[in-house]
Amino acid sequence: MSDLADSADARIKLDIDYALKNMQRAPEHEPDMHCLFCDEAVGHGKLFCNIECRNDYQKLQAAIKRNGGNISY
Ligand SMILES: [Zn+2]
Repeated sequence: MSDLADSADARIKLDIDYALKNMQRAPEHEPDMHCLFCDEAVGHGKLFCNIECRNDYQKLQAAIKRNGGNISY
C-alpha cells in the first residue's frame, strides 16, 4: 500500500516540477524584444511593435479569458 502512495506522491511532484519548468521557460508579459502579438522585433523593454498590436493582443486575452483559458485558431 505504501508503494502506491509513494508513487502517487512522486507523480504529483513530477507534475509540479514540469509546471514550474514551463513557467520559467515562458514567462508571461516578459519583454523578449519581440512583439507579443505579431512577433515583430521591437525595442528593448517594449512588449508591442505598435498600438494596434497592443489593442489586438488585449482583445485576444479577453477572448481567451471568456473562453475559460482555451482558444482555437
Ligand atoms: Zn506587433
